[in-house]
Amino acid sequence: MTKRDYLIKPLVGDCYPTIDRGETIYLWDKQGKKYIDGSSGAVAASIGHGVKEIIDEMVKQASKVAFVYRSQFTSEAAEQLAEKIAQLTPGDLNWSFFVNSGTEATETAMKMAIQHFQERGIHTKTKIISRSMSYHGITIGSLSMSGHPLRRKRFTSLLEDYPMVEAPYCKRCPFELEPESCGLLCATALDRTIQKLGSENVAAFIAEPIVGAAGAALTPPKGYYEKIKEICDKHDVLLIADEVMTGIGRTGEMFGMNHWSCVPDLLVLGKGLAAGYTPIAAAIASDRVMQPILEGSRLVMSGHTFSANPLSASIALAVLNYVEKNGLVQNSKIQGEKIKLKLKEWQKEYPFLFDVRGEGLLIGIEINDDLFDCKSVTNRVIEIAKNHGLLLYPSVSGPYGRSENSFLLSPPLVITDAQVNELLTLLKEVFNELNQEAKE
Ligand code: PLP
Repeated sequence: MTKRDYLIKPLVGDCYPTIDRGETIYLWDKQGKKYIDGSSGAVAASIGHGVKEIIDEMVKQASKVAFVYRSQFTSEAAEQLAEKIAQLTPGDLNWSFFVNSGTEATETAMKMAIQHFQERGIHTKTKIISRSMSYHGITIGSLSMSGHPLRRKRFTSLLEDYPMVEAPYCKRCPFELEPESCGLLCATALDRTIQKLGSENVAAFIAEPIVGAAGAALTPPKGYYEKIKEICDKHDVLLIADEVMTGIGRTGEMFGMNHWSCVPDLLVLGKGLAAGYTPIAAAIASDRVMQPILEGSRLVMSGHTFSANPLSASIALAVLNYVEKNGLVQNSKIQGEKIKLKLKEWQKEYPFLFDVRGEGLLIGIEINDDLFDCKSVTNRVIEIAKNHGLLLYPSVSGPYGRSENSFLLSPPLVITDAQVNELLTLLKEVFNELNQEAKE
């Protein structure tokens, strides 16, 4: 008799390898198969697996106290983590609200934006504008501001009617313009959308500095976020930077938004904040956003049982110190450039490599799916790569007629020169196999 399933897996009933252990960029399953973690889990395990000093910190904090309830106690760990984040973030982004997932953090940021206006006596500013290619989370609130058709599909009727503007997708420009002469129409579209809705109804615009799951490292052009911020300020609309994927060095800068001269009003962290060692995420607000709340109710209306628990906070703090001590932001930039250069070279060899984009170690590869017969070329690449012992992360590059045609290459930021070569060797094997399935 076969053993029945009790765990709901991503595809119920499918077989998944059972993980045994991890070390730096590698994972081993129970069968002894070795994998390169080419996507850092879903872009979370940025300092690699099995880092001893993080595990030591876990034991140290858990031995003192693992959990206290946020409404009754604060902790040194949570206070120190908030202070560290305030030092790292640009401008006056000085106030951290800790939660457990990226989804909770974007939803908290959304609520803080709305509450900011309520405390100023403005009760109509409730709409959040986002972009047609975006992902901000899986709950009804965060999905309402996500332009991810696949994840929205079943729940569309339950979602808030939040407006979206076109994504800055230069390679397939939604306005069919060229980057040199487009006048940043994708940014000025925000101005028109706010005017149409009435600025008195709009609380915030949310964007991933570089789009992750719904755009495979889609990188806006120069000047884009400067223009976006100018438009937001003009209409008294807050800018929320969703840095759940791009934050903490992933793109070769501490924050993805640092690639532009733009300081958002709210910034959201998750994934790399504790690099997968514990669930923790943060919604970070500027002094300006917090001021009316501090002078008003003083109660940010959000929170979860496990918010700001000392164990997660101490682990996140140890991760941030590890990132700094080991120069991982710089390594992300250097190794990312190296990998991107090689991939661009390979575009001549493999005509199916439609686009290579991204910054640092957030690299997106879009495939020309016209050249393949399979239903999802993304799934095919992921499958071939997994057989070769390389883990990649699927991404969609819709909604402009294309969907499952791209993936993310985002190895841990600790990756060494030798490991980059090893990863590229595997990737070449994957592309060679895929090439055999491509049409002439
Ligand atoms: N925001 C962005 C940019 C993300 O990439 C994700 C997850 O992929 C989320 C929010 C949601 O985070 P979580 O899966 O931790 O809820």
